Amino acid sequence: MKTKAKPLFGKIWIIGALLFMSMISWMLYDILQREGAIGRYDDIIVMGTNAGFKPFEYKNGNEIVGFDVDIAKEIAKKTNKTLKIEDMSFDGLLPALNSGQVDMVIAGMSVTPEREKNALFSKSYYSAAQRMIIKKGSSIKNKYQLEGKKIGVQLGTTGDTLASKIKGAHIAQFPTAPSVLTELNAGGVDVAILDNAPAEQYTTGFKELIVLPGSLSNEDYAIAIKLGNNKLLEQINQVIDEMKQDGRYKKLIKKYFGNDTISLQGEEK
Ligand code: GLN
Repeated sequence: MKTKAKPLFGKIWIIGALLFMSMISWMLYDILQREGAIGRYDDIIVMGTNAGFKPFEYKNGNEIVGFDVDIAKEIAKKTNKTLKIEDMSFDGLLPALNSGQVDMVIAGMSVTPEREKNALFSKSYYSAAQRMIIKKGSSIKNKYQLEGKKIGVQLGTTGDTLASKIKGAHIAQFPTAPSVLTELNAGGVDVAILDNAPAEQYTTGFKELIVLPGSLSNEDYAIAIKLGNNKLLEQINQVIDEMKQDGRYKKLIKKYFGNDTISLQGEEK
C-alpha cells in the first residue's frame, strides 16, 4: 500500500504546483492587459469627459455625442482602436487620467499652467472664453460689477478659478453647466460664469437668461494625456493637424455651430 500511495501523493503535488503556476500566470496576464502592455485592453482607447457641455459633449438619449466625441472617433480611427467613453464629473477627469482609468481627456478642457503640471496637452483645437450670464433685469452689466456678488460656476473649471479671485464674491459650485443656469434662473445666484459656447447653447433653453457681451478670459481647449505618454500625444497632434488641413475640422465646426468660422468667441475678445 505504502509503495502505491507514494506516486499518487507525488502526482497531487505536481497537479497542485501546476494549478498554482497557472493561477499566477493568469493573474500576471490580467495585470499586463490592464496596464495596456498586451492583448485585449490594448485595442480600446478610453476618452474621459463630462457630458453636460454642449456642443462639445452631451447626451442624445443614452448616447454621448458632440464635437469632442467626433474628434475622439478620429483619434480612435488613427490609432486603430475602439473608442470607449467614460462620463464623470469634470473635477474627476485629470485624476482619472493619472490613475489610468482613461487614456485621454476631451472635455472642452482649457490649458492652464496648473493643469500642465499634471498632464500633457495636445495642440489647441478650439479657442474659448469665459462669459457672464445674468437674468433679465439684473443690475449686473459688466465684470466690474461682480465684487461681492453671488456667482454660480461649474466645479473645478477655469470659471471657478476666475470667480474665486473676485473680491468678496460668494461662489456656488455646481456639477454641470446646465445646473449652474438652473440655479441662476431660480434666483439662487446673481450671475453665472461659464464657457462661451455652452453658455450660448444652454441659455437658449431659458427665456429669462442672457449672455452678457464681453469676455472674462481667453482660453484654449486641448486634449489632456497622461504625463509620459508622448506617443499618444504625437498621434493626437497629428490627427488635429490633419483634420485642420483636409477640411474635417471645418466640417465639424459647421456641424456643431452652424457656420465655419474657427471659433465662436466673445465679440469683445
Ligand atoms: N473650459 C473650462 C475648463 O477647462 C470648462 C470645461 C468644462 O466644463 N467641460 O475648466
